[in-house]
Amino acid sequence: MIARMSDPVPTRAEIVVDLAAVRHNVRILKDLVSVDGPVQLMAVVKADGYGHGMVEVAAAARDAGADWLGVATIEEALTLRAAGDHGHLLCWLSAPGDDFAAAVAAGVELTAYSVAELEEIAAVGPARVQLKVDTGLSRGGASRSEWEHLFAVASDLERQGRITVTGIWSHFAASDEPAHPANDAQEAAFREALALADAAGLDPDVTHLANSAATLLRPSSHFDLVRCGIATYGLDPAPGTSPRVGLRPAMTVRARLVMSKVVRAGEGVSYGHTWYADEDTTVGVVPVGYGEGVPRAAGNTAHVWVDDSQRPIRGRVCMDQLVVELHGELPPTGTEVVLFGPGDLGEPTAQDWADAVDTISYEIVTRVGGRLTRRHVHTDTDTDTEDSVRTTR
Ligand SMILES: *Cc1c(COP(=O)(O)O)cnc(C)c1O
Repeated sequence: MIARMSDPVPTRAEIVVDLAAVRHNVRILKDLVSVDGPVQLMAVVKADGYGHGMVEVAAAARDAGADWLGVATIEEALTLRAAGDHGHLLCWLSAPGDDFAAAVAAGVELTAYSVAELEEIAAVGPARVQLKVDTGLSRGGASRSEWEHLFAVASDLERQGRITVTGIWSHFAASDEPAHPANDAQEAAFREALALADAAGLDPDVTHLANSAATLLRPSSHFDLVRCGIATYGLDPAPGTSPRVGLRPAMTVRARLVMSKVVRAGEGVSYGHTWYADEDTTVGVVPVGYGEGVPRAAGNTAHVWVDDSQRPIRGRVCMDQLVVELHGELPPTGTEVVLFGPGDLGEPTAQDWADAVDTISYEIVTRVGGRLTRRHVHTDTDTDTEDSVRTTR
């Protein structure tokens, strides 16, 4: 998918998302969780599909067998409905003033964190609602001391026909660290919550706890459904720890050099001269910067792929551009630069960028955007052809 002659030349810089990789990843994850019985798969497509394009990723994930889609906000859920998605769809982060009625009318399942929220949803009902219990992340969800009250109210509302409790779920704090004691504690707490819900007369369709890391590392946490975000995009939720299951990164970010030149020995590069050439050095100017979501911390730390080798970014990343050290002859203007991609050719990956700037791959792919155009391709790796190319923004 990288640097293929068939690709239209981007005018400046672009994100290319391989939807065949998304489909491949969804199939791998589904197979993985189906080993010990039927477990449903939710593809998490919040935050514009982690920067990959929510609507396109959602369609690809459904196509590959995702049983559910998951998003944070009602607005995201309604966007999916407007784009023609009709399957099981859960959203989990409402804010005061949110349009519960629109969500319910669109068949979106809402998540209640509290009795107050549950009653607000029931007021626009009959609604399909999932209850979120806080088992130790200490973020959203009902605290342990509230569980019995929440379940009692939910059970009451269900008997009145005002809601249907379709799910009970929770979220891990440290599933990317499998030996972290929070994992066992949270799973035990979740089982306690499920027992209390059962005692209150609730019988949800699905119970779920696992994100991508727990999907790969903690089969005991799969319950009825797993919620996979980062793994859907082919990135490793727990680098160095996850088993290799053959996920394929879907995103490539590439640009074209707008200029190359020789910086003389002793000259400083970019704002603040945080890097000096110690000999005459060929450099190239890449027309992307923090305005495109490239981390400023990538200055002097990350690498890009030019002419079949990884080349270091020199000096500070600016708003619109960055400077990369090249070698040999001055390359022509328009030479392709890959910031990151699946890594197949040796180009850096989003994980390499995350390591370079001390963050996680999630942040790298989700923040990249700004003025970049995004193009979705379907690369069949067996035949290396694209069956469809379209620009989405
Ligand atoms: C974002 C999110 C996920 C997906 O997490 P990954 O680590 O990307 O798999 C799952 N569940 C909830 C509640 C989330 O907010």
